Amino acid sequence: MTKNAMPDVAVLDDEQNVSQSVEKVNLLGMSEQKLTAFFESLGEKRFRVKQVMQWMHQRGVIDFDAMSDLSKALRAKLADLAEINLPELVSEQTSEDGTRKWLVKVAGGSCIEMVYIPEGNRGTLCVSSQIGCSLDCSFCSTGKQGFNRDLSAAEIIGQLWIAAKSMDSLDPTKDRIISNVVLMGMGEPLLNFDNVVDAMNLMMHDCAYGLSKRRVTLSTAGVVPALDRLGDVTDVSLAISLHAPNDELRNQLVPLNRKYPIAELLRSAQGYLAKLPDKRRKITLEYTLIREVNDRPEHARELAALLVDTPCKINLIPFNPFDQSDYQRVSNNALYRFRDILIEAGYTVTLRTTRGDDIDAACGQLAGQVNDRTKRSQRYRQEQGLEAIRIIPG
Ligand code: SAH
Repeated sequence: MTKNAMPDVAVLDDEQNVSQSVEKVNLLGMSEQKLTAFFESLGEKRFRVKQVMQWMHQRGVIDFDAMSDLSKALRAKLADLAEINLPELVSEQTSEDGTRKWLVKVAGGSCIEMVYIPEGNRGTLCVSSQIGCSLDCSFCSTGKQGFNRDLSAAEIIGQLWIAAKSMDSLDPTKDRIISNVVLMGMGEPLLNFDNVVDAMNLMMHDCAYGLSKRRVTLSTAGVVPALDRLGDVTDVSLAISLHAPNDELRNQLVPLNRKYPIAELLRSAQGYLAKLPDKRRKITLEYTLIREVNDRPEHARELAALLVDTPCKINLIPFNPFDQSDYQRVSNNALYRFRDILIEAGYTVTLRTTRGDDIDAACGQLAGQVNDRTKRSQRYRQEQGLEAIRIIPG
């Protein structure tokens, strides 16, 4: 750096301080209720909420000045007090099989990834709920990166906004190629409850993305107290990351199980279904198959017996290997044998095929770049009561 450059840096710092002192409200992740309270605090009518939601979420407009059906005075007021602030798109990749991956940077400098998996002329977007993860499941690469922080509701819905904008899939009057969203990227959604609920409810809101509740899925490793509350505030589809048919094995794979064992988890999941008005809905049970760990016929039979009282379908996922893990992918023989035992027992079983492998977009490969803050990680685990369940290495 030359000497001459120094004063510029100082000026920039000053400017940043000035802009930080007037903190604007980010409208992007606000639920309808929060937006309504905000507009009422400005003395504005409730119908403005609907208009602004449609501009933001359906037309992809983030500049208040372009919101032509708002009065000039309101646009100026909004520009003064509010903003529509998105994560920054860093890069975008498309795989040979049509899978797409976006890398976005969030406040604080960490990066997270979203993946779109096409199926015909529709498809599923996989989004993250936290930067990194505190659960440290033994087969998942996210946990190996540590935990940084919860994502805000704006950062969660912002992932859908960015992907939908880049695929021209925002307009609800057209057939949308992003037809499903799953919270199966980085993080444990139920440990970031309020932000996740606000973002998911926006995904389903008629003035925002308007996705069907069957097509928005929250996947959890099983934070039982939060799952007990979930049905009071949303009716999204539920996936449970089970991965083992008994507590002894699940304690090793999903250390959270030591705090909330399988029986409690299944009871809580059944309670969630019981709160939904549509009694035909089912839970998806996810089971990552790891060679010679949880892939034996006796595991399949134990699983079939375990789930008799749980309305569910079972999604089998071959383990995707990654550098810091000695686990191996299930063999095809063991995979089909496992599936057939479950089918014979009367279950609906789906196999998740690996997609987007050439761009590292497969499950458990979504790395992002997490600035792990060990102290922050420890504090977070303590707050969540997770300290006692740290996994035994190996
Ligand atoms: N914390 C939540 C959401 C994260 S997504 C949860 O546990 O459900 C977690 C899903 O990613 C798991 O159910 C599993 O299906 C998948 N997954 C993680 N690591 C994987 C790996 N290495 N191979 C295959 N699937 C993996």
